[in-house]
Amino acid sequence: MKRFFLLMLIGGLLNTLAAQEMKPEDTEVWEPEPVKVTPGVFTAPPSDAIVLFDGSDLSNWIRPKYTVGATLESIKTMIENQQKTNFEGTDPEWMVKDGAMIVKPGGGAIETKQKFGSVQLHIEFLCPYDPGKESQGYSNSGVFFMGMYELQVLNSYENRTYSNGQAGAMYKQHPPLVNASRPPGEWQMYDVVFNAPQFNRDGSVKTPASITVFHNGVLVQNHTVLEGPTLYIGKSSYVKHADKLPIVLQDHGNKVRFRNIWLREL
Ligand code: MG
Repeated sequence: MKRFFLLMLIGGLLNTLAAQEMKPEDTEVWEPEPVKVTPGVFTAPPSDAIVLFDGSDLSNWIRPKYTVGATLESIKTMIENQQKTNFEGTDPEWMVKDGAMIVKPGGGAIETKQKFGSVQLHIEFLCPYDPGKESQGYSNSGVFFMGMYELQVLNSYENRTYSNGQAGAMYKQHPPLVNASRPPGEWQMYDVVFNAPQFNRDGSVKTPASITVFHNGVLVQNHTVLEGPTLYIGKSSYVKHADKLPIVLQDHGNKVRFRNIWLREL
């Protein structure tokens, strides 16, 4: 019995000595080294960005054949159609002027030719001064991640509308934390981290989509978890879709401008 306690005591002492022998370097992690990225000046694209629009032309964009509808049923139809057609589209009708792309009211949405899942996105937008317009009718557009999760674009400077429909809202789901809008006629920006949803084989959700948004440098969505695709009517829920899908910019009948659009795939 004495011998047992003696062995226990020696074991304990050895453990203490081992812990004391730990050096600061023992908890340093050197590999892998994070890849070096040259930051852009102000909001210019960093060295590893995919530039979607640099002010010159719409060569990275098409007019989609199918766009998101108002209800969950129309979302399901859109996803089915996309799977059948593999994203056919025509040339977009939007105008390019003074380094910006401008919505052509009635010309339809535009979407990226390339498909994306999780991204860091930078986009600048300008809601034109348009006295007489109000609520959802004042410079409405939107950035649809994967073609179905809308970050609202709207003039929300002294233009009240429903909170989960104003600028910086995840439309009809989550109002922005604050209203960081600049007046109409001034350029604004969104910096976004969008995490694509992940699905199980049976179509159930493994991880829902989430989003973090800075509006003009101010946090307005803080790792917000989405209920499903954006719907105009009804409560949303997830519908299984591809891992990568185009980013869509909305035509809501207003001449909203966009410029300096770039992203980094995550
Ligand atoms: Mg919109």
